[in-house]
Amino acid sequence: MFDYPDEDLPFDTHMLDRLAEVSIRVGLNLQEGQDLIITASVESLPLVRRLSAEAYKSGAGVVSTLLSDDLLSLTRYEHASDESLDSAPSWMFNGMAEAFDNNTARLAVSAANPLLLTGQDPSRVARAGKSMSLASKPAMERITNFVTNWNIISYPGSAWAKQVFPDLEERDAISSLAKAIFSISRVDNPDPIAAWEKHQQTLTSRQNWLNEKNFSALRYSAPGTDLTIGLAKGHEWKGGASTSKNGITCTPNIPTEEVFTTPHSHRVDGCVRATKPLVYRGTLIEGIEVEFEKGKITKARAEKGEEVFLNLLDTDEGARRLGEVALVPHSSPISESGLLFYNTLYDENASCHIALGQCYSKCFRDDIGDDPEKVSEAGGNTSNIHVDWMIGSDRMDIDGVSQDGTITPVMRNGEWAYN
Ligand code: ZN
Ligand code: ZN
Repeated sequence: MFDYPDEDLPFDTHMLDRLAEVSIRVGLNLQEGQDLIITASVESLPLVRRLSAEAYKSGAGVVSTLLSDDLLSLTRYEHASDESLDSAPSWMFNGMAEAFDNNTARLAVSAANPLLLTGQDPSRVARAGKSMSLASKPAMERITNFVTNWNIISYPGSAWAKQVFPDLEERDAISSLAKAIFSISRVDNPDPIAAWEKHQQTLTSRQNWLNEKNFSALRYSAPGTDLTIGLAKGHEWKGGASTSKNGITCTPNIPTEEVFTTPHSHRVDGCVRATKPLVYRGTLIEGIEVEFEKGKITKARAEKGEEVFLNLLDTDEGARRLGEVALVPHSSPISESGLLFYNTLYDENASCHIALGQCYSKCFRDDIGDDPEKVSEAGGNTSNIHVDWMIGSDRMDIDGVSQDGTITPVMRNGEWAYN
């Protein structure tokens, strides 16, 4: 390992080496000769350099890095005309899609200021978001359909750290966020690779139990929540590692605590209240309450950021329907940290959640998942968005409803109801 002489970081950079190792070996499981596309912010370069080094040590072909910068992103919202917000760099996403079809792996480093766009005109944010969703669809689809192996990890960016730890000085905030990231990503462990193997075994046993049960629906009850979520026909529960269509088993999210599957987009009824704020495209949305009828959100409100939330629901036909249902025990390390990360990768792993929008075709038996028509016949949802939000708490009970109507406790007070 060579030295990076200009590094002056308020945390143990050895942890970055380990994070890079976990990302490339467990997260991506990058194969000899595979190309890799990394997207990251300039602030996360200390990690990106290590990722690139680790990738080449694993025999990578070409590692291409696309860097972004928060202030650079803001220049557009501040100065671009309304009309120009309808444009997005589709050439770039088409190129990525082509690369994924040709076995290129995908790695995203998340470090950005989660509330970057707070204070910007919501209609301009929605307009730019819509064109970006549309343009990025070819690349996004290949990721949600697991055409290639992919991974997302994070780096303790300064604005993000200040958001999570508003009372600390910047360097202390970064140091605290770094500690949380390293611990929750299981790299503060002397053998992180072994720690991930053990964690995967737990997730596998949970998903096996749920797959054996093959519930027809899940029933949720908690303060403000009385919801029945039908599960898609032929749904399969997944958690942690997944085998992509290129035959490589990767662990897409680091961290990950969830087991998840595809709900039936037309069999969701009742009301649900969010238990944590949702950060969507840089805006904080708090106190979400919605009602579903036959799978579709018919009433929606939010205490804060309501306009952004309602715009999100109007993105397209599928944006008012569910594409994911995920179970996470309340005692997950992220929940135990007691922190709100303002970052879905972290916050979704603190609690049971649901996602509006696109479903994962991966969460079906293979005879269904390989055919988009069969996915939609089975109840899988289609949309340009996929937005997770948290509904779990230590006051949530979940029952599984079997195909014959039998009720089985799945969670009690936010914890697994079986061992
Ligand atoms: Zn999820
Ligand atoms: Zn999700």
